[in-house]
Amino acid sequence: MSPAPTRAVVPYITRWSGERPPVVRVVERRGRLAYADERSYDRDTGGVLWRRVPSTPGKGRREFGAVHPLRQRVAMAGLLCQVCGGPADRNENGVLWLIGDAPDAPGSWPQGLETAHPPVCQPCADLSVRACPHLRQRSVTLRVRTWTQAGVHGALYRPGCPDPVLTDATGIPSDHPAIQWIIASQLIVRLDHFTLMGAGIEHLGRGEGANGRM
Ligand SMILES: [Zn+2]
Repeated sequence: MSPAPTRAVVPYITRWSGERPPVVRVVERRGRLAYADERSYDRDTGGVLWRRVPSTPGKGRREFGAVHPLRQRVAMAGLLCQVCGGPADRNENGVLWLIGDAPDAPGSWPQGLETAHPPVCQPCADLSVRACPHLRQRSVTLRVRTWTQAGVHGALYRPGCPDPVLTDATGIPSDHPAIQWIIASQLIVRLDHFTLMGAGIEHLGRGEGANGRM
């Protein structure tokens, strides 16, 4: 099979220049951070406040390195591929995750790895690794059996007068009291139980099929 053309695909979770967050005033309400004009859809089912960003993918230019909060959350919570937005790949070993910037000895990774990167489908994993020399060198693929929502990354505030004060961009665990004072922009999950399938391109696609027990 000849390699597919590797023109840059704009990932599903990437934010576009036309998707600017509006300026929204924040206030303290019932002992936690809130929007002055808050609506029910501003919080997730756990009560966490989320960044408001319009979703108009394709409008403007891609913002390199910027992640769209809603699409990242939808992809992570719904196990969609972060590149194409279709279902992530799943087989009897679990859901496929491609982790870039792998340490030198990924075999020694403890279970319980935390990540803000949603999973991938097999074709997008293959294409991503082929298109990116850095990923080819430094990525590993995991099959994840169990995962849990660990927390969120976002803009952390503290109580202030007259309005709450922005203090940091950081990650906060779901069970930490500061979760009440953050505007979340990415969901973080903990990969509780996973199998390391391999590093680099040689482990993608063909290797797994040969070992599968389908
Ligand atoms: Zn995909």
